[in-house]
Amino acid sequence: MRRWLFWICLFVFVSALVAVPDLKRTNTFVADGFDLPVGKPAGEGYYMARGFLSYHPGEDWNDVRGGNSDFGAPVYCIGNGVVTYSQDARMGWGNVVIVRHAFLEGGKLQMVDSMYAHLNQIMVKKGQQVKRGQQVGTIGTNRGMYTAHLHYEVRKNLFIGINRSRFAKDLTNYHRPSQFIAQRRQLPGAGRTASVPIGTYATDQSGYQIPQSDWKPGKKDKPAARPDRFRVNRFDDIGY
Ligand SMILES: [Zn+2]
Repeated sequence: MRRWLFWICLFVFVSALVAVPDLKRTNTFVADGFDLPVGKPAGEGYYMARGFLSYHPGEDWNDVRGGNSDFGAPVYCIGNGVVTYSQDARMGWGNVVIVRHAFLEGGKLQMVDSMYAHLNQIMVKKGQQVKRGQQVGTIGTNRGMYTAHLHYEVRKNLFIGINRSRFAKDLTNYHRPSQFIAQRRQLPGAGRTASVPIGTYATDQSGYQIPQSDWKPGKKDKPAARPDRFRVNRFDDIGY
């Protein structure tokens, strides 16, 4: 009887392990507020050249002096968090950094991703802890594709990563970046840490699948499996 009990316990234990989704987590400092990513901390010397639009779920920021005057200028992290993506994504994007933030609002822990694109230089690595106002890179042109500017986004949906074309470019998946920041300059929780999921992007090698409980597709989101899913649509996912 003892022997059977051992095997039954082992079976239950292994079943429980298999049932738990392969979602890795890491601790990061709670964001105690958010700043603009250029002209630290409130965008001084910069202006929004292109806002949040149906085809452009982020904002473009430029130096008021125009042209390429902001080429090589510092890009700062909007708040405390952990780097979840840091590499050259090529195509319309170029060098991209994405940071995951946890913050307290209405007594609840919330999470967003901030994305910084077309960087000339990347200065942080995936998995690195970053602080509010820490430099993550410099403003670039994506190999001369654009006049130098920063494209940045704030995402509610933590599964987008660099696969933006799969998700509706609307407020179900994104925040209006500057509005998000303006409403959250100071937040509680300074010095506290929080556990955040990592490895949630389709591009992550873990092959992590989005659990229905974590994210339900919006009406305009495209299904995950499509017959043409391996065809790269260079212009659908162009970063601007
Ligand atoms: Zn843009």
